[in-house]
Order: sequence, then C-alpha cells, then structure tokens
Amino acid sequence: MRIQIGVRSDVGLAREVNEDAYLIDDPLFVVADGMGGHVAGDVASSTAVAVISDEFAAADVGDPDSLIDVLRRANSAIWQKSQSDPSLRGMGTTCTLLTIHDSQAHLAHVGDSRAYLLRDGELSQLTEDHTLVGRMVREGRLSQEEAEHHPQRNIIMRVLGVDSDVEVDILSLDLIPNDQLLLCSDGLTSMIDVGLIRQTLESEPDAQAAADRLVQLANKAGGEDNITALVIHVRDSDSPSPPGEKEASASVPRRSPAPETSPSTGAEATGTTAVKDAPRHAARTSPRRTRGAVIGIVVLAALGVAGFFLVQSLLDNSYFVGVNDAGEVTIYRGRPEEIAGFSLRREEHGTNLALADLPEFMRDDVQEGIKAESLEDAEQRVANLKDRARSFGDEGATTKKNSQ
Ligand code: CA
Repeated sequence: MRIQIGVRSDVGLAREVNEDAYLIDDPLFVVADGMGGHVAGDVASSTAVAVISDEFAAADVGDPDSLIDVLRRANSAIWQKSQSDPSLRGMGTTCTLLTIHDSQAHLAHVGDSRAYLLRDGELSQLTEDHTLVGRMVREGRLSQEEAEHHPQRNIIMRVLGVDSDVEVDILSLDLIPNDQLLLCSDGLTSMIDVGLIRQTLESEPDAQAAADRLVQLANKAGGEDNITALVIHVRDSDSPSPPGEKEASASVPRRSPAPETSPSTGAEATGTTAVKDAPRHAARTSPRRTRGAVIGIVVLAALGVAGFFLVQSLLDNSYFVGVNDAGEVTIYRGRPEEIAGFSLRREEHGTNLALADLPEFMRDDVQEGIKAESLEDAEQRVANLKDRARSFGDEGATTKKNSQ
C-alpha cells in the first residue's frame, strides 16, 4: 500500500493571518486550527505541530494509545506557554492527527477540525465535532442542518491548550486501496457542504489537485475563515502511478511555518511550504469539552468540566450590559442569549443603577442585553445610561416642579 498526499492551507478572504497549521511527515499527518487574540492562535497551532513532530518520534506507531500521550504533551506545552505569557492567555487549538501503520489508520482528535473518509463513493465523517452544537446534535436536540446555521456554532467545547489536561478521542480503521482521507479545518466545512466535498474528492483523484480544488471552492463560497485541506489517497502498491502523479516524499517533512513576530498576510501554503490559520470545528468518536471558573457561573455544570473550561475562556472576552434579578443594571461577562437553556453569562459587577430609573423606551434594550466590545466599553455604556437616567430624573423633577 502506498499513499499520495496533497495539502493546501490558505488564509481565506476575510482574515489577515492564517492560524491553521499542518504537518506532513509520512506516516504522520496533522491539521491544527488555532484560536486566540492577535498571534495567539497562530502560536497555539504551531506549537501543537512542533511538539507533535518531536514527540511522535518516541511514540509507538502501532499503539494508538501512545497518540493520546503525544496530544497531551502538546496540550501541556501550549497551556504552559499561555500561563507564562499574558498575551497568550486563553489560546488554544484544535488538532486532528492521523498516522498510518500496517494498512491501518489511527486518528487522535480534539476540537472541530474534521477527518473524512471517502470509500466506494460514500463520504463519512470519522471525527466528532467538539462543539456545543455538535453535542446538541448528538443529544438529538438539534438537527445537523440546524447546527450548520446555528449562531453559536463556533463555540468549541474541547481544544488543546486551554486547560492543564485534555481528553483525546482515538479511532482506528483498516484502509483499503482507493480510500481517500481528508483532514481539514472548519474554514473548509463551514463554507462548503459535504456533498460538494464528496464530489470534489471523487472527481479529483490526484491528492494535490483535490486539496487545491477544495480550498478554491471554500474561497469561492466566501472564504470567511482560514482553510486547510490535507488529502491522502491510498493506492494499491501494485498499481502503476498515474501519469503526473506526485508521490509523497516520505523523507521530506512539510509543515506550516512557525508564527512570525509580525504575521505575514495573504499567506498560502502548498507543496513544500505551509501556513497556519485561525478558528475551528470537528468529528465523531467520543465526548469532549473545555474549561471552568469561579463564582456565579450559572451555566455549564451540565456540560462537564472540560467543556466548561473552553467556553469560559471564549466568554472571558465578551461583555454586555444587562439586568440582574433584583432589577439592577449589571455588567456581565459572556453573552446575553441562552443556548438550549444554558446561560452563558457571569456577573462582573453591579452598577447601582436601577432599571426602573431609565426611561421606559430604553429598558427593553438593557433587558435584552447590550453587547460591549470590552469591559471598558461596557463601563462607558453604563455611564451613558446613568447620564440618561439622570436627565430623565431631572425632567421628571422639572415636570413635577412645573406642575406644582
Ligand atoms: Ca477555523
């Protein structure tokens, strides 16, 4: 059995930096999709790939469980980096690792990047998406179709690097000639549907042409995220190479470049160079989720400790102005909306402003939650509300005075 490999990673049309990373070091293949502010996502995915590359050398390729250790080491390395550098706090990355040994493929997976298998014209998703909506689909609370358009589909419940340890999904399958495997970041699967992915793999037997075409289609559909497609085509070792086929070179590892101090833009990688990108999605094997917190988090106990951690880290950077049960205007971390009964907010602090002190026409907005860019922005919005309340109070006083 021999394999043909193609890869393309592209920044897409909407983002400035490619925070995706990949590694091709036959028989090891990895796609990682980093997240975090500024260059942090880039650092997370590149660190994952670098650590995996180092650790894999010592791993027992025939023992899938050793892959769990490899990903846990990558997790620790990212976690430690984020703990020692405040600018990297909260960074994380998905990671989908595939290795081939004795005609068997072993997958180790965390996050919402995906692995697919095309066999006999049928495309199967091998991995499970470690996302909130993915969980809701598995629990039968959301259809696959609804999940694809759900406003919270980007909330990831399990990734590398946001906690000191991580749960890793493991999956093995026997390969047969003509199988096509695809590892990809969510920048591909959020832009084009599985029907088009299947059709593209079927119509492009050349692995590099298929990877190129998939990225091209995702960009044509909007390219809203970084896009990485890594295609592995399993060939019968007895069959001759098709004309023009580019054999994978087992001796030359290819991987995305490490993050630069000033991130390059318009980055794109193929063949012997590579790139990285940003957000995430995923697959099917077992459970998942992320990180936790402190006081008054109304929400996520039901999601399990792991999922909890990641959601919290995502929500840490979101603020809004709302109202607490006592009718006090309050600044919250998180998001005003609930997801399937899960509250995604944590009280930051009260404001000594009663909702009842605001003009009536403003109360609905506050009750629904006024989103803010930052804590400072939220404070400014509260200051504005207080001004309105004050002038509203003065008007009331004036009216009363005039009517006396
Ligand atoms: Ca992504």
